[in-house]
Amino acid sequence: MSFAAVLVAAGTGTRAGGAKQWRLLGGKPVARWSLEALLRAGAQEVVVVIGQGQEAEADRALGGLRNWRVVGGGAARADSVQAGLTALVGPDDLPVLVHDAARPLLSPDVIARVLEAVETADGALPALPVADSLRRASRDRLEGSVDRDGVWRAQTPQGFRLGAIRRAYAAWRQDEPPTDEAEVMRAAGGDVRMVAGDPRLMKLTYPEDFTLAEALIPRRIRVGSGFDAHRWGPGGSVWLCGVEIPHDQTLIGHSDADAGLHALTDAILGAIGEGDIGDHFPPTDPKWKGASSDRFLVHAADLVRAKGGRIVNVDVTLICERPKVKPHRQAMRERIAALLDLPLDAVSVKATTTEAMGFTGRGEGLASQALATVETPA
Ligand code: MG
Repeated sequence: MSFAAVLVAAGTGTRAGGAKQWRLLGGKPVARWSLEALLRAGAQEVVVVIGQGQEAEADRALGGLRNWRVVGGGAARADSVQAGLTALVGPDDLPVLVHDAARPLLSPDVIARVLEAVETADGALPALPVADSLRRASRDRLEGSVDRDGVWRAQTPQGFRLGAIRRAYAAWRQDEPPTDEAEVMRAAGGDVRMVAGDPRLMKLTYPEDFTLAEALIPRRIRVGSGFDAHRWGPGGSVWLCGVEIPHDQTLIGHSDADAGLHALTDAILGAIGEGDIGDHFPPTDPKWKGASSDRFLVHAADLVRAKGGRIVNVDVTLICERPKVKPHRQAMRERIAALLDLPLDAVSVKATTTEAMGFTGRGEGLASQALATVETPA
């Protein structure tokens, strides 16, 4: 069904400690979650209502998406919604959803349920039953109970026909502004239907709500692998897994030739589909000549964080006859754990020989392979 939407993102968020709609949730600005959900569901246009002076933040947060534009909001939520409804272009019977950006975890199912109800009703809203018993109190003094019967928790998006909700707003005569559009439509005599809401569609109100919402984001585990090899040459020490080991040879390479960290960096990049180490630090660039491989690894970890993800564990295997790795293994694990900000038991460094076979066995070079497990928003 063709529909348009008003996304209300004009709040100053005093209770959440700042304008929460632009804060990151799972690596993505809060308002962007809803905009993406509405566009994915087929919204032909989304008018995003923002507060004064928030244009730059909106551009930063929503950039790269199509079929949206901003309009300035008003002092109260109802003023902002009306500004959005006025800005929408469409026929009188165009279905329109009004959604609060502070409810980021908007599922396609909820959108579909509201749109379906609007086909036969003047308005629709998602709502949840109240599970806890309700009490009335004055400060901390209990004064009575509230009958839970027939009481529901209202959510958004709320759906209407564009012309009808505009007329309903124009007809609002009460002194107090309405709490939502469903109330406006009902006051105008409209038939407003409730459909099943979604507990994940919680409204981010207090700072601690972000912690709960983070936990509600669907996540997936991704695995990446990496491999690297470098040739032995004349030298007095070798860098392996971020630790310098005295040795009668060194590994030859453009950077510090730390094959352990290179394989691990590639494993992390592989887990998040970000190419390989050469894409990010081209060996043709003189900037990386002799560079410590620490920064390659930290860069890969930063990319994981930027996607709202976290590294779960890593496992590196060094393949060589010499030097003996075991005496340095604990230092290597500690170094990688520090670079990736991981607990020690999430970092494994192992070593093996190839029983004198192949290029590692003949002492021509050292090889390394690595696995990384990463958790990111789905
Ligand atoms: Mg390398």
